[in-house]
Amino acid sequence: LNMFTRNSDRVFLPKFELALIFSVPTCTKLKLQQRSPPSLISLAGGAPNPNTFPFLSASIEVRNGETVTFSEAAMKRALQYSASNGIPELLTWMKSLQKKLHNPPTANYSPENGQMEMCVTTGSQEGLCKVFEMLVNPGDNVLLDAPTYSGTLAALQPLGCNLINVPSDQHGIIPAALKEVLSRWDPLEVHRPGSTAPKILYTIPNGGNPTGASMTAQRKKEVYELAQQYDMLIIEDDPYYFLQFNKPWAPTFLSMDTDGRIIRTDSFSKILSSGLRIGFVTGPKLLVDRVVLHIQASTMHTSTFTQLMVSQLLHSWGQEGFLQHIDRVIEFYRTQRDAMISSADKWLKDVAEWHTPTAGMFLWIKIKGIADTQQLIMERALEKEVLLVPGGVFMINSSDPCPYVRAAFSLSTPEQIDEAFRRLSALIKEAL
Ligand code: PMP
Ligand code: PLP
Repeated sequence: LNMFTRNSDRVFLPKFELALIFSVPTCTKLKLQQRSPPSLISLAGGAPNPNTFPFLSASIEVRNGETVTFSEAAMKRALQYSASNGIPELLTWMKSLQKKLHNPPTANYSPENGQMEMCVTTGSQEGLCKVFEMLVNPGDNVLLDAPTYSGTLAALQPLGCNLINVPSDQHGIIPAALKEVLSRWDPLEVHRPGSTAPKILYTIPNGGNPTGASMTAQRKKEVYELAQQYDMLIIEDDPYYFLQFNKPWAPTFLSMDTDGRIIRTDSFSKILSSGLRIGFVTGPKLLVDRVVLHIQASTMHTSTFTQLMVSQLLHSWGQEGFLQHIDRVIEFYRTQRDAMISSADKWLKDVAEWHTPTAGMFLWIKIKGIADTQQLIMERALEKEVLLVPGGVFMINSSDPCPYVRAAFSLSTPEQIDEAFRRLSALIKEAL
């Protein structure tokens, strides 16, 4: 951990005005507040006067009949700057959920030993991007199981690192294959200056984008043991965690993190809203604090309005109400998944292969007899009025031929999915 925090010192210099007036470190602010007599007149604030803002109050109807209301006072707070790590009531709620779901061993550690910390981010993409910028230096070897989320590739590639593919299948990273990749390095040498051993491994453990793959508990355990042996951090990007169709949900890397080597990104994009932009980073305090300094120097914080709106709803739901909502979301996606699989069985059996996903919103389809789907989709699919994502965009080298396409079952009706696969089938047969 010290190695990473030292590396990033040069990037994150706290800005004094921001730190003191409205942002983290919260401890500084609290110390100031504790010392302040009630008669104190503060001319120190760098925040604008919300009485000049045009928005007065708000009332937001929730599907279950509840209402989230912003009184004039709440609205003033919602329109104002807030702490870079997130508003306290949302963080408290999320920490308690994280403990219930993952019971991370690191929750009770000391900061030096990897104590768990969380911060709010503007979607998990912001968290991921900032985590990569913190940890990855030019020339570093970074491990991931490609095909992978194109947003991850977009965040990693400009950092000038060397992306190394770890072979995977429908159950995610294959531990024996990871062991083979790592066998180039001597675990005893990884801390020597100049060692080229990878320091981080990135993976999407549930309902992978684009593959739909979900890792089993046993594989996670074996991958974690290899990370221990080679002293790597694991970045667990889990936006489809709440879209696991089968219970019990698989234990997460965070739940097995005895060492403080997991950085987990969670997202509300698939369950509350993608446009509100709310995500969370959970990981060792020393590292999460660095992410917060980076937020302080860039976006300052996730929209206070967004955070208050979400926090009010979560507090009124409680954990039970939240998990009931998740169950309804899962039911929707499971039905959609089933519809897509039955249409695939109906139209694509002879021309394609796939594995039924147990989480997420994607079906990853391998087209038989076509080496690269780029041309098929980009040039001919539109004519047939059907659109899918050609697999190449998820590969480390996007120009490598890829026989796969990604189909999302999130937005179209079962009837539309069926017709789309009928058109896709005709398209493939013409191309062969
Ligand atoms: N530039 C200057 C000179 C500022 O004073 C501030 C805010 N105090 C900012 C940029 C950041 O503004 P914003 O809240 O729009 O990110
Ligand atoms: N990680 C993965 C694997 C994703 O598929 C996505 C969105 O598609 C994200 C991260 C980004 O999610 P967010 O909306 O929380 O930034």
